[in-house]
Amino acid sequence: MMTYHGSCHCGAVTFRIEGEITGSYTCDCSLCRKKNALMARVPQDWLTITSGEDRLSLYQWNTGVAQHYFCRHCGIYPFHRNRSDPTEYGVNLHCLDGFDPAALPTRLGTGKGMSLVTGARDVWPDPRD
Ligand SMILES: [Zn+2]
Repeated sequence: MMTYHGSCHCGAVTFRIEGEITGSYTCDCSLCRKKNALMARVPQDWLTITSGEDRLSLYQWNTGVAQHYFCRHCGIYPFHRNRSDPTEYGVNLHCLDGFDPAALPTRLGTGKGMSLVTGARDVWPDPRD
């Protein structure tokens, strides 16, 4: 079991991931593009918020299912609760201390196709394996 420690930029929000991160993904939806997000999917029980939970703000859009958190002070996105599987989080790998995402394979997610309330795909075709 690996343990990773993460934080937002100002340090108000800190969190821990317990489990092994073996890959990353990007997403082409309008939000992830603007965040330039590089993420990993983790089961919700891998994530523990160790400080600053009250500093997190929640942004929701489109269907309002996914929960996109950001630090209300520095604005950094540390993680979000997934829309396709709400028992999982997407974690911002650049928030993890001493973590080198370039060492891991990256898959290109295609969230753009999910971004319509009508006609969204049922299945999210991104890293599952
Ligand atoms: Zn912050």
